[in-house]
Amino acid sequence: MVVVALGSLVLEWAWISYDRVDTIPFSQFEQLVAAGRVAEVTVESDTIQGKVKDKLSSGNSFFMTARVDPALAEKLIAKGVVVRGVPSGGLSQTILLWGLPALMFYLVWNFMSRRLDGGQSLGGFMAIGKSRAKVYVEKDIKVTFVDVAGVDEAKFELQEVVSFLKAPKSYGRLGAHVPKGILLVGPPGTGKTLLARAVAGEAGVAFFSISGSEFVEMFVGVGAARVRDLFEQARKAAPCIIFIDELDALGRNRTPGAFGGYDEKEQTLNQLLAELDGFDPRVGVILLAATNRPEILDPALLRAGRFDRQVLVDRPDKNGRVAILKVHIRKIRVSKGVDLDRIASLTTGFTGADIANLINEAAIAATRRNADEVGFDDFTVAIERIVAGIEKKSRVLSKEERRRVAYHEMGHALVAASLPGVDPVQKVSIIPRGVGALGYTMQRPTEDRFLLSASELRNRIAVLMGGRTSERLIYDGDVSTGAADDLQRATEIAVEMVTKYGMDTKVGQRTYAPRPQAFLPAMQDTLVGAAEATGREIDLAVRELIEAGDVCARQILEKRRADLEAGVALLIAQESLTAEQFAPLRSPGAAVGNQAAA
Ligand code: ADP
Ligand code: MG
Ligand code: ZN
Repeated sequence: MVVVALGSLVLEWAWISYDRVDTIPFSQFEQLVAAGRVAEVTVESDTIQGKVKDKLSSGNSFFMTARVDPALAEKLIAKGVVVRGVPSGGLSQTILLWGLPALMFYLVWNFMSRRLDGGQSLGGFMAIGKSRAKVYVEKDIKVTFVDVAGVDEAKFELQEVVSFLKAPKSYGRLGAHVPKGILLVGPPGTGKTLLARAVAGEAGVAFFSISGSEFVEMFVGVGAARVRDLFEQARKAAPCIIFIDELDALGRNRTPGAFGGYDEKEQTLNQLLAELDGFDPRVGVILLAATNRPEILDPALLRAGRFDRQVLVDRPDKNGRVAILKVHIRKIRVSKGVDLDRIASLTTGFTGADIANLINEAAIAATRRNADEVGFDDFTVAIERIVAGIEKKSRVLSKEERRRVAYHEMGHALVAASLPGVDPVQKVSIIPRGVGALGYTMQRPTEDRFLLSASELRNRIAVLMGGRTSERLIYDGDVSTGAADDLQRATEIAVEMVTKYGMDTKVGQRTYAPRPQAFLPAMQDTLVGAAEATGREIDLAVRELIEAGDVCARQILEKRRADLEAGVALLIAQESLTAEQFAPLRSPGAAVGNQAAA
């Protein structure tokens, strides 16, 4: 405001002093008129300026503040004075005196309100309900599947979407089911955003993208309006892709927020759910979303008919990293001897983004030593730098740890492959994944199971124990903490067998439910209806079941020691193994059940 006042003061002064004008009192003006010295006057709403025929003290112009009434005007005309009237003030003067300060005021106000709330509120309340959606539409995306490497499984799943988008009409003709929403799940930097854009690029359709975090608005209703707008725009542009990045920011499990953010997020989420429900993919719009935290998503989003298909975009294994290196290495000049295989084996745990960064860093290192080409040593220098950074955020296993994890996972896998009634092994991996798991063994559930027999449950316990048993066998009894999750899940199964399904002969065929809502944590283990002696029997029965699983696993692994060693060697070299790649992992028995062991 100070600026504004100053501005108009200065301007007024400038205008007055222009042309050396004498400011005179009205009385002097009357005298001048009476003496016939006035040549002309210009009358404005409450000022008069004019010229005299001869000279005043500083020039021949004068100025005064006065209103001109009709009587004065007549008197002036009678004296032969030229009278000019400027109606409603001079245009230039009005602009100078009012327009400029007003403009400055507007700018200052605008700036301040932007500073106050990140630029949202002004537009927000000036256009309530009208979306200012930052929807990014890209028409000619050049990215294709060639640019995304090392995530073949995800690419394979998305290939279907591409062929649908290329010909939405003929696709439905055969009654093929088109997924409504596909959720890309994986750690940051694995290429989820890249994949989504590549789908659009492959299919040659428009790509509407918006980030979940942008929906978090101050004003209630704006987020919901944006969602509506997004779907409306997309429907008009079909066939196309809608991509919601960082879905977790928007679709977080609905719990009241600290500052009443609850209502707004909930409204936005509800609008999204409504759009999803009324959404017919046959018009040629495919919804993709990405998240690295699927576990915090509102379950309503994952229900059938919404984001009902999830595609895992995992950290690449060694072959995947070689493929990603090949994609990005095109951008730099490398010397002939650089062995991508060796670089890949030095970069366990790197994501696609880490590898892109690595190539950049290596090029910088080469530039710094004034080399013409990027050499292997540049890569090792860069790897060391990046690993130091990554080690802080995620874990990179030491060589010895990797060996142990390999034995552990191969233990699970071989036990699973040896027992009937257990899901066949799909993949074994020693790539750290998620927060807790250092490796994983994935089993493919072949069919939905509604009934499980006691022997199938026992086999599941044996599979879960297989990891630790393998460690014990190899490390001479010196087990690690890596089996905590396995033990917990084995215990859960055993407890249910004894207390819920009546599968232990000594404890008998009755149920013992955990006491609901115990106040003291120590009380939570107490079972309703179990006498102290029975409680002890239950404990013993559970322990026996787990020990039996351990013995079973041990017998298998001792018998298949050669397979174990061969599998571990391959796993360490390759980091992940499918059943196709390692024959001993193929199951002998019928495939049933549903479980995965970490
Ligand atoms: P996310 O969305 O999963 O966090 P991005 O798609 O944003 O990861 O990846 C960031 C960058 O890292 C990409 O632009 C690309 O350069 C590189 N990148 C990530 N994953 C891959 C991959 N699988 N193949 C090639 N480049 C990748
Ligand atoms: Mg992303
Ligand atoms: Zn395990």
